[in-house]
Amino acid sequence: MATELATGELRITVLGSGTAIPVADRFPAGYLVQSRSATLLVDCGPGTLRRLAQVDVDLGAIDAVFLTHYHTDHCADVGPLLFALRSPRYRGRKPLHVFAATGLQRFLDTLATVWPWTLPRDYELHVHELAPGELSFADLKVTALPIRHTAQSLGYRFDAASSKSVAFSGDADECAELVELARGVDVFVCDAAFPDAARVEGHLTPGLAGAHAERAGAKSLWLTHFYPECEGVDVAAQARSTYRGEVVVAQDLLSVTLHK
Ligand SMILES: [Zn+2]
Ligand SMILES: [Zn+2]
Repeated sequence: MATELATGELRITVLGSGTAIPVADRFPAGYLVQSRSATLLVDCGPGTLRRLAQVDVDLGAIDAVFLTHYHTDHCADVGPLLFALRSPRYRGRKPLHVFAATGLQRFLDTLATVWPWTLPRDYELHVHELAPGELSFADLKVTALPIRHTAQSLGYRFDAASSKSVAFSGDADECAELVELARGVDVFVCDAAFPDAARVEGHLTPGLAGAHAERAGAKSLWLTHFYPECEGVDVAAQARSTYRGEVVVAQDLLSVTLHK
């Protein structure tokens, strides 16, 4: 995969458009975000590392992992990632930053009690427990907002050098913060876990994802995080019933570069 991006450009790659329930072609949640000077994972569900290999991104390239919450379909590959980074091939690599809501240090400490092989060796691990707000990371402005799903759920938005932007809902139920997060964004990657007629509390449907995208004025809506109930359903049509912008149905390994 070509990695050179100009200042302000972003590349978004879907590593997992599925959920906790296995579907043959969809791994659980994982996304790759690349800018000119940063390579990030947003969520790191089981299978994320394998998908990274499929798109030819070495683990040595990862600068940071942003976790939306602690459900296993969003973070189970964190342990395998930290284990792999102990390999001699990554000795002296650049620091790895992990960002999530409160509870991250406890999560990693607990992981290390059963898997001591997740503790960093020969590189620095920086743990960031985030309060809602903005921060800078490399050439990105990062916005984290609390999302209605668990008490420790964050949605993320990345703005590259005041140019292209992408927002990730993570698992989400209806909330004003989602609209704020996706305001005018180029790509809104949004949970659409169950079809409109089979809504489950704590999750959005395509129609609800569309309604939030419409209110936010998002330029493109990527529906993702599909439970098996969505297979065979025209989820794009459901989103179009509430949203006038471009609708994309995420597939694993879908990759789009946002040029200036
Ligand atoms: Zn969840
Ligand atoms: Zn989930």
